[in-house]
Amino acid sequence: MDSIYDDAARRAVRYARAASARAVLPTAEHVAALAALDVPLPERPTADSEVLRQLDEIGSLATVASTGGRYFGYVVGGSLPVATAAHWLATAWDQNAPNRAASPAAATFESIALRWIVDLLGLPNESVGAFVSGSSLGNLCGLAAARHAVLARVGWDVESQGLFGAPPVTIVVSDEVHASVIKALGVLGLGRERLHRVPTDAQGRLRADRLPRLEGPAIVCTQAGNVNSGACDPFAAVCDRVHLHGAWVHVDGAFGLWAKASSRHRALCDGVERADSWATDAHKWLNVPYDSGLVFVKDSRALRAAMSLSAPYLAEPDAAPSPAELTPELSRRARGVDAWAAIASLGRIGVADLVDRCCRHARRFADGLSEAGCRVLNDVELNQVVVSFGSEEDTERVVDAIQRDGTCWCGLTRWHGEVAMRISVCSWATSDDDVERSLAAMLRCARP
Ligand SMILES: *Cc1c(COP(=O)(O)O)cnc(C)c1O
Repeated sequence: MDSIYDDAARRAVRYARAASARAVLPTAEHVAALAALDVPLPERPTADSEVLRQLDEIGSLATVASTGGRYFGYVVGGSLPVATAAHWLATAWDQNAPNRAASPAAATFESIALRWIVDLLGLPNESVGAFVSGSSLGNLCGLAAARHAVLARVGWDVESQGLFGAPPVTIVVSDEVHASVIKALGVLGLGRERLHRVPTDAQGRLRADRLPRLEGPAIVCTQAGNVNSGACDPFAAVCDRVHLHGAWVHVDGAFGLWAKASSRHRALCDGVERADSWATDAHKWLNVPYDSGLVFVKDSRALRAAMSLSAPYLAEPDAAPSPAELTPELSRRARGVDAWAAIASLGRIGVADLVDRCCRHARRFADGLSEAGCRVLNDVELNQVVVSFGSEEDTERVVDAIQRDGTCWCGLTRWHGEVAMRISVCSWATSDDDVERSLAAMLRCARP
């Protein structure tokens, strides 16, 4: 057993070094080599060392090197070395983390990490939180709590009775709502299309002056960190308008909520702490390994009511809700360990510095690209840059050249109906040198 763990660690170290130096995308040859794995179900055992060898020799080369400092696709965080190392150790523990009885260690690390994150993000102290697989699940949990609360206020128990015959719930989203919120609304029976859509401003912020007049049960979905522009909704104005009418305000804050951890960027999320529920990711801006997301709900009873489960063998002495009573999962890995390690290592100052550094890099990309005559399409206030290289065909051609060049990786998007390239700086590993090298590659590819 020792030697297989040592072997894996040696290979992982070699991988990490190579991944930061090599082209971001795997070569076509290395991707094609994955076909060698596609064999019939093996009848007989294979030596562990041989299994690991195949995984490394075939698998490692076919990965996308997103742990290096030059991957700017989607919104993908790297993983801090201490977080990856904690993840390995916790994997060796193999703790099941549905409740404190199943793993006192996991429960302790998680509850401390959750308390620290509430503090870092400036959320209300009384909020209850839980780790989930990502913001998609965070949105689902937050909106399930919302559904419970707004219907309970009109005397409807949605967990017992479902939505058949329930009073209607008004759902408000902005035109820039993230697809995962729409998916969650569908799963919750609130409907993917039965929505009131509010227009947004040029940066993709919900226009509070265009909110509908609300009556009866209502949920308003807001966003911290537009997936293209990074813009954050005007939370204070939204809360001012809709809380009066008893509406629940949910925040999809997958990455943008982390602006609150920085005194320089906090103002972008002004008033976000006045909402009722928040979803965010640890695997994006906190730079822990996949998968790790979070939900926080101010009224703990609402989340617990939405996610409660009971079985005689699960009875727990402690009054505080266990993770299994706050999320859809029962058996699960101890995700909080990685987050605990990341925050213990960085401290409040280190988390703020991580956020500020990514924003500074994004600013440098925007300045370097505009100086060279490219059109930056958003106000770069956070970590996201949206850029056009001319016509739609020009932009597509340049992005394709950038992806093939391999120095860095950025994806295409559509912003205000126009094809554009999106740069998301989300990794601890991105250095000034990575930014300069990537910028040079982008400009080289942009030359006609
Ligand atoms: C990434 C993202 C999500 C979904 O989060 P997952 O962790 O991928 O489930 C939701 N909203 C926004 C704004 C995002 O950036």
